[in-house]
Amino acid sequence: MALKTIRDFELEGKRVFLRVDFNVPQDKQTGAISDDTRIQAALPTINFALEKKARLILASHLGRPKGKVDPTFTLMPVAERLSELIEKDVIFPDDCVGDGVKKIVREMEPGSVVLLENLRFHPEEEANDPAFSEKLAGLCDIYINDAFGTAHRAHSSTAGIAAYVPDKGVGLLMEKEIEYLGKLLESPERPFVTILGGAKVSDKIGVIQNLIGKVDEILICGAMAYAFLLGRGLAVGTSLVEEDKAKTAAEILSRAESRGVKILLPVDHVVAKAVEPNAETKIVSSEKMPFDLMGLDIGPKTIELYKKEIGKAKTIFWNGPAGVFETPPFDQGTMELAKAVAGSGAMTVIGGGDSVSAVNKAGVADKITHISTGGGASLEFLEGIKLPGIAALES
Ligand code: AMP
Repeated sequence: MALKTIRDFELEGKRVFLRVDFNVPQDKQTGAISDDTRIQAALPTINFALEKKARLILASHLGRPKGKVDPTFTLMPVAERLSELIEKDVIFPDDCVGDGVKKIVREMEPGSVVLLENLRFHPEEEANDPAFSEKLAGLCDIYINDAFGTAHRAHSSTAGIAAYVPDKGVGLLMEKEIEYLGKLLESPERPFVTILGGAKVSDKIGVIQNLIGKVDEILICGAMAYAFLLGRGLAVGTSLVEEDKAKTAAEILSRAESRGVKILLPVDHVVAKAVEPNAETKIVSSEKMPFDLMGLDIGPKTIELYKKEIGKAKTIFWNGPAGVFETPPFDQGTMELAKAVAGSGAMTVIGGGDSVSAVNKAGVADKITHISTGGGASLEFLEGIKLPGIAALES
């Protein structure tokens, strides 16, 4: 069923509840926002609503306050930053529900902004409690979800609320996410190459299963490659590996083969005793992993091999770094792949999380077609799972 978007509604004077993802990283000591990308990402929808003279009610969670009021997780710094960005006062009540909030929302002027206090100060939010959802719904005429990063969670503000508001839809950011990720699943230009890395294969098994049958090729890197190499009967030294997933990895390899999907594994590795900056390293082939060293990055032959495949691609999806990219010299593989993806000329989608930091670190973020704001959500989307935050808007 087609989703409505914020552009489909007459917004003037309407109370619009906009669920955004303001879950920004903060300095542990000072609480200062260390990266405001998520606030910036919500600005197109916020500005759109304000230009149309909506009464805009913003709501988000921040961190994990575990259902209790915890000043560490107040959205106050976000309210201040947002106010600077939109050059407008942001009214900031001390809660997200209750009589005080109702009064503020009742009295707000068209074109003004309220940012509610952290939704997760109430345990009912994550429990998707119907009474709490109804209270949030009671604040608005129109419900818009623009929080793609939490769309894979069925919480009151992302899912439950929608049952109580007839007029609902997605914001501009969520619309863009669905468009690009949807294109990967439905109409990718071929060859479609997916690069999967990161620490754990268990997080990505569902995605790989769903992408076999949709992609032409999967390039595996990062520590998750070691479960595959183990599945092939190779030794992996002291590398980080989910040994119990080796059998599943082997099954994935044979299923891919029978479906004509190429899965490439690293052919060489940068190994060291431990993750230490400027550690003494060696390059070894996959067949010759030393028993006492760990693989911490893909080696030069793998980089060349993967770059060649990336160069042929017309569509690329990438999630997860190729090595311990936070600690040089183990960032080389990830940096090289980032540059190759950016220079490929393909439609390129980066699936949130560490891969976003990697393209930023490589200085190529502006050459990527779409950088998803949701790591977990983008993976679940590509697993073919209907995200609760999107499904709730279809009813
Ligand atoms: P994920 O959250 O599963 O995408 O994993 C990201 C993490 O994987 C990063 O913190 C990387 O440092 C880590 N990682 C990638 N390759 C390796 C490796 N070969 N050994 C240990 N950790 C790795």
